[in-house]
Amino acid sequence: MGLELPESMEELVYWTARNMGDGKVKAWVEKEMCPECGKAMMGKPRGKDGKIKIRATYYECPECEHKVEKREYEDTLTASIIYTCPECKFSGDIQVPFKRKKTKGVEALVFSCQKCNAKIPITKKMKKIKE
Ligand SMILES: [Zn+2]
Ligand SMILES: [Zn+2]
Repeated sequence: MGLELPESMEELVYWTARNMGDGKVKAWVEKEMCPECGKAMMGKPRGKDGKIKIRATYYECPECEHKVEKREYEDTLTASIIYTCPECKFSGDIQVPFKRKKTKGVEALVFSCQKCNAKIPITKKMKKIKE
């Protein structure tokens, strides 16, 4: 397939690069166009001061103000992954739906190595403290 790393972080919803034993993974998710008007990229809303509200729980279209709940929007996106498999050292790239599942109590985006089928989890870096 030959995925290329994105040139700018601005159009990304998610980005990570990490080492996993003998392997490594770079993964990113690009923003997608507003499903309502198709004129602009959905993004985190901006406050009155023009700053992006990182902690907002929804995404908003800057053109038509269409809002989508964060999780609902992110589930429709596609993750692009360039990896070296920690099991068989195969290097490849793959695109998978950006759906995170809970494995062992941690949310992870899981994909399978195209050569050995090993399941490779990209876990969230920040672990939420359970109350
Ligand atoms: Zn729109
Ligand atoms: Zn493998």
